[in-house]
Amino acid sequence: MLSFDCTEVAFKGKSDADLGRSVVLFRILSKPALVRWGSKLASLSLKLGLPVKGLIKNTIFKQFVGGETRDSSLNTIKWLADRKVGSILDYSVEGKETDQGFEDTTNEIILCIQTAANQASIPLAVFKVSGLVTQAVLERQSLNPDETDQDWIKLKYRLRRIFQTATELKVPVMIDAEESWLQPAIDRLAEEAFEEFNTEGPVVFTTLQMYRKDRLDYLKALWERAAKLGYFPGVKLVRGAYMEKERDRAKELSYPDPIQATKLDTDRDFNLALEFVVDRIDSGALVLGTHNEESCYTLVRKMKELELIPAHPRIYFSQLLGMSDHISFNLAEAGYNVAKYVPYGSVAELLPYLQRRATENTSVQGQTGRELTLLYKEFSRRRALKD
Ligand SMILES: Cc1cc2nc3c(=O)[nH]c(=O)nc-3n(C[C@H](O)[C@H](O)[C@H](O)COP(=O)(O)OP(=O)(O)OC[C@H]3O[C@@H](n4cnc5c(N)ncnc54)[C@H](O)[C@@H]3O)c2cc1C
Repeated sequence: MLSFDCTEVAFKGKSDADLGRSVVLFRILSKPALVRWGSKLASLSLKLGLPVKGLIKNTIFKQFVGGETRDSSLNTIKWLADRKVGSILDYSVEGKETDQGFEDTTNEIILCIQTAANQASIPLAVFKVSGLVTQAVLERQSLNPDETDQDWIKLKYRLRRIFQTATELKVPVMIDAEESWLQPAIDRLAEEAFEEFNTEGPVVFTTLQMYRKDRLDYLKALWERAAKLGYFPGVKLVRGAYMEKERDRAKELSYPDPIQATKLDTDRDFNLALEFVVDRIDSGALVLGTHNEESCYTLVRKMKELELIPAHPRIYFSQLLGMSDHISFNLAEAGYNVAKYVPYGSVAELLPYLQRRATENTSVQGQTGRELTLLYKEFSRRRALKD
């Protein structure tokens, strides 16, 4: 029977030294004040050119990042593949502001899709629309759609190149979800892509953040439109990464908070959404992006109830590299499709991503405690074997 408590599977292939490094890191991450100051200090030190790269590279970078380049991430990808876990190359460089920067990012995403096409261990690709255009463009297009906007036209051209490559090479590609004031534009782009590229099957995936009050209704309406227009929606379900930012902005600008009132409400909608999609899996596809054990068990139960095989080609579980390996490896061992995001880029480029991981592990109740408990359990198991 599937259990996420099996630490032998979760940490197979990790040396005692690897586990020790993770323990030190997660203990540091469990101290919010240390994370806050460390994060600020890291940004400042990199700006001043102080020699902190080595320190970052051997600690947080090693835990959460595949490598500095696509090629140097291949070792991590192979390591995961040896444990039956797929990879999703994530070029998570943020903050580019020029057309040249956006073109470079587009080309890099296309290279990720081409790399995926040649490797069975990379089943999916991913990108953020805000890596291809400024947030200002997404915000104004969310407020007032304007098809004559030159920046919008350029963005659509970049997206078309990405989706065409994905379709030709048969690599499903996911669009990450972003802040609610950018998302209407992203939703529009995703649905246009569905109409064009998902007519034979799910190639393009959109992401729904179930911490938003309106997303369950959106999901249902999306399925109705899909039936009417004749396409297969691909959906990645997540809870959502920007809760505090969302609440702060709603308060500051005096509009109703778009985020669920409680964590229980988010959990309820997340599980309802996953059941909704799995009940209709012949007409779409699902990636479940979560580190929540209960949600993963819910999907497993639901698949059993509907007599779907674990390796169902339209259903994937997904976690981030360096997090919740006990979920990823135990699911993969039981035959389910699992793929982890493998971010890559230089230390300086990935600093915002690493800062988010650090804060998330500090603020997500229980996540760090859970990782530490499992690490200690594995140490005890190994010690007992030696005695
Ligand atoms: C593979 C993968 C892809 C991802 N892609 C995206 C993406 O495209 N866009 C994005 O925004 N995020 C993305 N995330 C991050 C994700 O949204 C969550 O922030 C993160 O995974 C934690 O949620 P959880 O389901 O793993 O677990 P849990 O620890 O069970 O849930 C924590 C989450 O619950 C919600 N929550 C916590 N407290 C409350 C509260 N008081 N009221 C209401 N809700 C609350 C928040 O969303 C919080 O992040 C991704 C995560 C993974 C694993």
